Amino acid sequence: MECVRCRRERAAYYKASSGEALCLRCFFRDVEERVLRTIREERMVAPGDHVAVAVSGGKDSLVLLHVMLRLWSRGRLPRDVRISAFSINEGQPYSCVVRMSRADYVRELCERHGVEYRVYTFEELFGVRAMDLFHGLWSRGEDIHACTVCGVLRRRAMNLLARRNGWTKVATGHNLDDEAQTVMMNVLMGNLDRLTWFGRYDDAEEKGLVPRIKPLRKVREEEIAVYAYYNGIPMMEQECPFVYTNPRYSLKFELARWERRMPTVKYNLYSFGRRIAERLGEAPAAYRRCRHCGEIAARDICKVCEIFQKAGYLDRYLQSITIYKH
Ligand SMILES: [Zn+2]
Ligand SMILES: [Zn+2]
Repeated sequence: MECVRCRRERAAYYKASSGEALCLRCFFRDVEERVLRTIREERMVAPGDHVAVAVSGGKDSLVLLHVMLRLWSRGRLPRDVRISAFSINEGQPYSCVVRMSRADYVRELCERHGVEYRVYTFEELFGVRAMDLFHGLWSRGEDIHACTVCGVLRRRAMNLLARRNGWTKVATGHNLDDEAQTVMMNVLMGNLDRLTWFGRYDDAEEKGLVPRIKPLRKVREEEIAVYAYYNGIPMMEQECPFVYTNPRYSLKFELARWERRMPTVKYNLYSFGRRIAERLGEAPAAYRRCRHCGEIAARDICKVCEIFQKAGYLDRYLQSITIYKH
């Protein structure tokens, strides 16, 4: 069977959502052009931006870095855009294992493009490792999921680092599956507020947060896996064991089942989330400053300080972040 686009090469990938059989070259181009379209349509990158690509070590972030560097080196991104890459080592056994196996690949890729790559640790940023926090929380009988701890702290780390390094955007590897799960999750939890914020980053700056962009948000996880495989991007995927008790995990399989009967279901959910956020308009502006650390908070005390307090490390955290204050 020949590729329906170029009519020359042999088809290698069936794109169920559009019913097209594509050769590898047309498939790569399809993914890259979709990423570029997403960046342009959602105005993710502006001239002069310094975009820092967050490399978690998983295939999504590696494909993101690969595609961003490819678009950038071909001059397809707005002019005067700078690119850097970074990883955050949370300091729990699985964060290290996953990252170490790919560090060489990332270093080499960045060097080839003359782009800076650095690894930062929770320990240097916050004074403690994620594992210390887990133990603190567990020993006090506090029920906060490990994924929440890492997620909340990673976001804070990105904001501190952006301020320190002059990054104007942080790009993450979230894909269409992640976005569909987020929308579905918020519907299942009845969380209308969170749906209102879905995909909004335009008001981040005035709140002192670095805008986070997701250029892969219209690319399915399966497409990312195929793209990675045929581009020689390392695929060794060691999943963090804490993910199995994360409610999102079962939703992932549920969505995959629905997709078999309804090939566009993930995109439908994503676009539903986008449109509902647009229609509901402005996110509630009830933001204030955390009583302890002075960062943006939804309540009196920010989520980060709440976690550190419950784990018994608030003082150490406040001490270590004083160097980021300006
Ligand atoms: Zn083709
Ligand atoms: Zn705080």
